[in-house]
Amino acid sequence: MLEANEGTREIADEINTRLSLNPGRARRIGNFGFIELEDTWGDETTILNTARVSTSNRRLNRVEDLTDKDRTLLRHLLSENHGTPFETIYLRYRFIAPIFVLRQWVKHRISTWNEFSMRYRKPISAFYIPGPEARTIDGFEVMTENQVSRYTDLLETMNRFYEEEYEKVCEKIDSARKRGTLPGKTGGRDPYRARARELLRSAMPVANYSDVYWTVNFRSLMNFFNLRMKETAQYEIREYARAAYVLFGDAFPLLKELMEDIGRAPDQPVSL
Ligand SMILES: Cc1cc2nc3c(=O)[nH]c(=O)nc-3n(C[C@H](O)[C@H](O)[C@H](O)COP(=O)(O)OP(=O)(O)OC[C@H]3O[C@@H](n4cnc5c(N)ncnc54)[C@H](O)[C@@H]3O)c2cc1C
Repeated sequence: MLEANEGTREIADEINTRLSLNPGRARRIGNFGFIELEDTWGDETTILNTARVSTSNRRLNRVEDLTDKDRTLLRHLLSENHGTPFETIYLRYRFIAPIFVLRQWVKHRISTWNEFSMRYRKPISAFYIPGPEARTIDGFEVMTENQVSRYTDLLETMNRFYEEEYEKVCEKIDSARKRGTLPGKTGGRDPYRARARELLRSAMPVANYSDVYWTVNFRSLMNFFNLRMKETAQYEIREYARAAYVLFGDAFPLLKELMEDIGRAPDQPVSL
């Protein structure tokens, strides 16, 4: 079994810390995956206040103060696709997901991404291993346990290759420095180690996990839910989208209720 590198152990510890500090807003997904709704900006009052700039001076401060009239307006705005007021509230998720999931997620351009760097850090040495549900469709086992075991061996070999080659470069740099043939490190970064990380990351598989902060407005988030919770979306991103939906719904129960009421919610019943 591949031993996790130091950075990966730190991330694993951090996942445990976040799950204990913020249990209602964080979830594990798969063998190393994670998602947390870290922060939100604005709420239902923000949407209503924004919309009312065109019609009245009435402004709300607290969701608890919403009247039936306010709820009706909110429902109307949502059902009639008055989109821009829904762009004024933001959610920030952190997720740790396989790179192949990130490639699908990043297509949601109306959002802001910040991702773990394999240039400044060694890669996360944990990779996605499909569990029984992921490798079975309609009771048909698409990938057998034996195949998953061979897949795991291959990915361990690739991750080990990275660690071993990187170690060799580090030893070479250190001994060149001792001999005085390479300049000493100045500032925080070592350009030679950085170049090794840049080159070796090309050999990392898309099953390896990466770490992202995703900041998204609610209009774009609805689009994400609708596209990525559908049965047609790939199983793995669906798992993340479902978890993101549950976390959103716990933070904004009224918006979730209205979405479900007017049929704007994803077509999947969600229970985690
Ligand atoms: C099941 C599934 C399969 C997919 N398969 C593939 C695939 O094989 N290859 C692939 O590359 N992608 C694929 N995608 C990604 C898909 O094409 C979209 O890029 C992705 O779902 C993001 O959707 P979006 O553009 O609506 O989101 P965002 O990029 O967040 O955009 C949100 C909305 O803003 C508007 N918008 C954004 N940018 C523009 C623009 N340039 N011009 C006009 N309007 C804009 C649109 O109304 C858009 O719906 C797939 C998606 C799904 C769900």
